[in-house]
Amino acid sequence: MRKLFLVSACLVGARTRYDGEARLHPELLQLLQEGRAVPICPEQLGGLTTPRPPAEIQGGDGFDVLAGRARVVTGEGQDVTAAYLRGAEEVLRLAKIWRVSGAVLKERSPACGCSQIYDGTFTGKLRAGFGVAAAILAQAGLPVFSENSWKDKE
Ligand code: SF4
Repeated sequence: MRKLFLVSACLVGARTRYDGEARLHPELLQLLQEGRAVPICPEQLGGLTTPRPPAEIQGGDGFDVLAGRARVVTGEGQDVTAAYLRGAEEVLRLAKIWRVSGAVLKERSPACGCSQIYDGTFTGKLRAGFGVAAAILAQAGLPVFSENSWKDKE
């Protein structure tokens, strides 16, 4: 049976990003067109609007947010941690009922990042770490790739 992957919706053309744009990745679009990927946007699934203010994780990464040690805030200082947790939990629920083999998620996002995220200072600096949705999937034992590290695992 062919493997099915979750994929960040913005990578396959959906205008789900905070700025109302997409970041189309042709190889991942092809994966979706072949019926091997399902698009998800954890930030929208958590109830956030599009467009929305950009947000970053402060005090750690997605694993720390899941453990209650860090929070997600907008540049204006609004705490949006609850929405990120809701979105991550919904992504995990869908991963289970759809029986996906893994996920290919957008690097650097506070929800989807899976090796690098912004450092919480809103200065464009990066740190190693996972976004909240990527962390909940990895914590559940699912392979999580970025659009840069992904290659066809079939
Ligand atoms: Fe893309 Fe993930 Fe951000 Fe949604 S939360 S716009 S899928 S990077």
